[in-house]
Amino acid sequence: MTRASALSVKQISKHYQDGSRQINVISDLSFNVAAGESLSVMGPSGSGKSTLLNLLAGLLELDSGDITLALKDESFSYRTANERSRTMLRRQHIGYVYQFFNLVPTLTVLENVRLPARLNNRRDLERHASTLLGEFGLSDRLNDFPNRLSGGEQQRVAVARALLLKPPLLLADEPTGNLDAENSSHVADLLFSSCREQNISLVLATHSNEVAAMADTQLQLDRQSP
Ligand code: ADP
Ligand code: MG
Repeated sequence: MTRASALSVKQISKHYQDGSRQINVISDLSFNVAAGESLSVMGPSGSGKSTLLNLLAGLLELDSGDITLALKDESFSYRTANERSRTMLRRQHIGYVYQFFNLVPTLTVLENVRLPARLNNRRDLERHASTLLGEFGLSDRLNDFPNRLSGGEQQRVAVARALLLKPPLLLADEPTGNLDAENSSHVADLLFSSCREQNISLVLATHSNEVAAMADTQLQLDRQSP
């Protein structure tokens, strides 16, 4: 049985203008990711991995093509959405994990993970933050500030924060790129197993063959020809 696609990418293109030079980063790219399934994006530096994730996050505008994300009772089309509705989409329905964690340094671990609930007035989910942190082995770090934590611990906090709202889509941009082998496999395990269990579609950019192989599908981006 094939599952309906949660995320559908149809013939998208994106270029940057660098003075008089046009850099075509994404050209006519299409793929689908079902709910609970994962896609890894590989490719050398500069091949457009972050650009693709930023398009999926609605941070950048498409040149052409469309991305649609299935929400509970509607299908969100990026092409026709304005910046404000893409911002709302990102805040409510997309989790994002970055290579350098991007935790708020002035908030504690628990406050960082609660933040998406606060921003969305979801008081019901605030208690879930400490449950998640417990599941990720961080129950004794709730009141610490991020700079007291190791890189692996900080990234587990960032994964918990991205999962808090149980978004239909989770994006991860080289989430293990700054971790040693042991922490890398721990964080990758958490990402893949949490998304699978909660029916979240995961798109993950990585340089690691091991991490990429954990995904259901692999996508290879190539360096742009000059
Ligand atoms: P990756 O994440 O695979 O390293 P990026 O998506 O960051 O690749 O970048 C893809 C290409 O687009 C690179 O050549 C990069 O220099 C260029 N690029 C990225 N962002 C911009 C920008 N804001 N303006 C101009 N060029 C950019
Ligand atoms: Mg990148």
